[in-house]
Amino acid sequence: MSTNETHDASVCGDCLMWIANGEPPLSDPATGADFNEEGEAAWVDAWVTRNAGTYWVCSSRPTADGEEWTDEDRYYGRDVESCFSWSPCDACGSTLGGDRHPAAWWEVGA
Ligand SMILES: [Zn+2]
Repeated sequence: MSTNETHDASVCGDCLMWIANGEPPLSDPATGADFNEEGEAAWVDAWVTRNAGTYWVCSSRPTADGEEWTDEDRYYGRDVESCFSWSPCDACGSTLGGDRHPAAWWEVGA
C-alpha cells in the first residue's frame, strides 16, 4: 500500500546534493578517501537500496505564519537554512556530525 503522505526529513550535505542534483559525494563520507568509480557506485547502490520505494525532494521552508517554531521544526531545520547536528541523516543514516538540511520524502510504487 502506498500513500501520498509526505514525511519531513533531515539530511546530510551529501544526500542534499544527491537529492537535488543527482551528484554522489566525491569521497567516502566514512573515511574521507576519494571515491573511485566502484566506491561511488557502491554509495549510490546503498542509498537506493536503503530508500527503496521512496521519492525524495529538498523541501522548502514554510514562511513564518505567526506561530512559534516547535522543537520538531528546529530538528527538521524549518526555522533555519541548515544546522549542525549529530543526529543521523534520515536518508543515508550517516552519524557523522555536520549540517543537516530539510528534505521530504514519500512512498512511491507498490
Ligand atoms: Zn545522508
